[in-house]
Amino acid sequence: MTNETPSQPFQALAALQRLDTELHQLVHRRGNLPEAAELQELQRIQGDLQAAQAHLQAANTDLMARQEEVATSIARQVQRHHELERQMQTSTGVASRDLAAMDAELHRLAEHQRNLEDEELLLLEEAEPLDEQLAEMDAKLSEIGTALDDVRDRGRKAVAEIDALRKEREGDRAGLVAAIPPELAQTYDRIRAKVGAVGVARLQGHRCNGCSLELPAVEVDRMSKLEVQDLSTCDHCGRILLRPDQLR
Ligand SMILES: [Zn+2]
Repeated sequence: MTNETPSQPFQALAALQRLDTELHQLVHRRGNLPEAAELQELQRIQGDLQAAQAHLQAANTDLMARQEEVATSIARQVQRHHELERQMQTSTGVASRDLAAMDAELHRLAEHQRNLEDEELLLLEEAEPLDEQLAEMDAKLSEIGTALDDVRDRGRKAVAEIDALRKEREGDRAGLVAAIPPELAQTYDRIRAKVGAVGVARLQGHRCNGCSLELPAVEVDRMSKLEVQDLSTCDHCGRILLRPDQLR
């Protein structure tokens, strides 16, 4: 591009501002992706589920240890029972008093075993809902895992799209900057560094559309008499003020 008309640099500057506004919005979008918020929420739910799962697993481990303990006790009782029975069957000439004692112990053992078996049953009943809850938790966590994969995937795609667009716009920007006299481009950059994303505003009637403040009539009158190539700035916000004559 060449400076074919006196207003051309200002038109390029207006285009540059539009481009920079778009770039600014792209950066904002990249930093505020809905996927990032979604990811955070899913991770929170995952964390809660994992904590609940750990709690259930600890209860389950505890229950299994108790089941094992009872099973071992039962096995011991059964063994003792058999031993006693064998002893009673094979023993000859044992005093009837001793036999009676052995018989009493057999009854005690049988009673104890019934109690242990009752306890075993109770523990099994206790384990059933726990198993169900753990299976439910597994299913929920697997669901969350899928949702997390999905949101990460969407997030990566969104970032890639934004980055590709940014790269394209940066290329467009270099072309536009080349069409603006260096001094004007530097002024623009300096103002943007001071006031933020928007360095160029338009004079609309008596108003600067950058800060929305009205300029004194005498100032607007002075501006109306300037040559197209003369630069004006807003007294209020300091932005470059593009006049209608510079945008024709
Ligand atoms: Zn202003």
